[in-house]
Amino acid sequence: MMTKVTGKKMLIGGKWVDREKTMEVHDPQDGTLITTVPRANVDDALYAIEQAKEGAAVAAKMPVHERIAILNRVADYIEENKEKFAQMIASEGSKTINEARGEAARATQTIRISAEEARRINGETIPFDQMQGSENRVGYYYRFPIGIVAAITPFNDPLNLVAHKVGPAIASGNAIIVKPATMTPLSALLLAEAFEEAGLPDKVLSVITGSGGEIGDTLVTHPAIRMVSFTGGLETGEEIARKAGVKKVGMELGSNSPVIVLKDADLADAVESSVSGSFGAVGQNCIGVQRVYIQESVYEQFKDEFVAKTKQIKVGNKKDASTDMGPLISEKEAIRIEEWVQEAVDKGATLLTGGKREGAFYHPTVLTNVPSNCQIAHEEIFGPVVLLYTVEDLDEAIERSNNVNYGLQAGIFTKNIDHAFAAIQQLDVGGIMVNDSSDYRIDGMPFGGVKGSGLGREGIKFAIQEMTEPKVVQFKL
Ligand code: NAP
Repeated sequence: MMTKVTGKKMLIGGKWVDREKTMEVHDPQDGTLITTVPRANVDDALYAIEQAKEGAAVAAKMPVHERIAILNRVADYIEENKEKFAQMIASEGSKTINEARGEAARATQTIRISAEEARRINGETIPFDQMQGSENRVGYYYRFPIGIVAAITPFNDPLNLVAHKVGPAIASGNAIIVKPATMTPLSALLLAEAFEEAGLPDKVLSVITGSGGEIGDTLVTHPAIRMVSFTGGLETGEEIARKAGVKKVGMELGSNSPVIVLKDADLADAVESSVSGSFGAVGQNCIGVQRVYIQESVYEQFKDEFVAKTKQIKVGNKKDASTDMGPLISEKEAIRIEEWVQEAVDKGATLLTGGKREGAFYHPTVLTNVPSNCQIAHEEIFGPVVLLYTVEDLDEAIERSNNVNYGLQAGIFTKNIDHAFAAIQQLDVGGIMVNDSSDYRIDGMPFGGVKGSGLGREGIKFAIQEMTEPKVVQFKL
């Protein structure tokens, strides 16, 4: 007997609504239909914005202690229901259940930190008498909420990346409309349930499910939206930035992160961290390791150990706690990755391990001798493929690390402090991890990139800066 799949509703202006047109949400592992969500249209997006105007007025007046209490109740809710959240992440996305549990725990932290940061949205007094003729004045500036934030999010961290936008928005007294990725809208809807349960006033948060191609423009271009907080690919980000007009734009985009391994490094540590940084979340990770530059004298040893460790990764059923790596988000993505690897091999690259696809699964893959004219050498692979290169010295490693249009995070393994500082100063990235791979992040640190990796920073306190503006107050005595 077929199980009847009941559809989920979306939250607009405090009401859970459905629509005749729906979008199916499938489990990428076996294509099972999980449920459907409403396919919002332009009118729905416009209605969400109208509701958010009222929500913004309510949010701005909400005392800070109330925002803190609501955010703490949301964090408690996620903690109490952490297995439900983890199962949802692991069902609609491609993370293993262990990775999904990790994401649910991090989302609790993200919301908890948002509650803490709400009390630290400070201003400063201003010494107006620094200018002649401006004596006998006192004043200050404080930060005020910008109004309505439109949050557009990707599929790869369907809960925590939404929490990174909603938490700071609520903490700073804004209204927010979330448009989650079409492939993974369910975790965002679950988070909206948590906010409703926690007593967030109606209309402050809407989660609108629909295709970015259909409703994206309305959210991005509408003058009432004062900030578009986008996380996703460079191409989409560029399109949004072109259309947004005069409003704030936060861009958390992709990368093909480099890691440098020098001859004085602790090689075992470098191998361990780089393998985990390359293949976590099936490589669908904006700070995942894609390029490793290894100094010549330790190249062979690093390569052998890296390949041996990669071969130990257990690919399989993502819901099985002993599995290390699940499927890609779709078979289409797995095929794209297969094609990029094939292009590299056709042009002369050496496949050290992997290179095998089974449906949406793609085995962890290590390439070397990759020519620079392959797509994989300069674009973001966003899959479980890593490129090993040999370099003569640090200068060459830095030059090659920088020679791409991305700059999110980088890692360097060395015991030499001068080398570490040279890398810190010369790598064009938003974050450098010394003796860790590029894949290191905690939720409270500034996070974001340069060049094609984005604009602005997240990391709660930093997102709050982006979601508020200073207002100057001056009293003439
Ligand atoms: P994507 O294709 O760019 O989609 C991201 C979001 O944008 C989705 O919600 C999508 O909606 C929406 N969208 C698509 N077209 C749009 C348009 N014309 N106007 C407005 N919105 C539109 O990215 P993805 O494949 O989901 O995610 C992978 C990318 O995200 C990678 O490049 C990764 O590196 C990046 N990422 C960056 C960070 C970071 O913090 N820097 C973190 C995670 C991921 P639909 O789903 O309906 O198309």
